[in-house]
Amino acid sequence: MLHFSCDFCGKHLDDKRFVAKLSVFPAFDPEKITEEDLDKDNLQAVANDINHHSEDANKPLSVEGQISSKDFRFDLCSSCFQKVLNDPLGQERLHRFDYSEN
Ligand SMILES: [Zn+2]
Repeated sequence: MLHFSCDFCGKHLDDKRFVAKLSVFPAFDPEKITEEDLDKDNLQAVANDINHHSEDANKPLSVEGQISSKDFRFDLCSSCFQKVLNDPLGQERLHRFDYSEN
């Protein structure tokens, strides 16, 4: 039998296990070169990038610096599950100091 621990707090999980899934991907076509790209002086950089792609064609898409998508899956305890429901990206924690003066 598999044993799980909470990916957020490390607590051992029993039958009451919760799962959070997160898909991260570009909402545009990362292969498409826009006019804006061509207007910028990074045209040489784009050309280098294209050459780089053809040289490394056998490498996976997740190479650092390249745009790719990824699916995350987290096992959660009940209390962390409640935290994720209320604040999925942890923004409340990140911005707590901004609001502390109100
Ligand atoms: Zn937890």
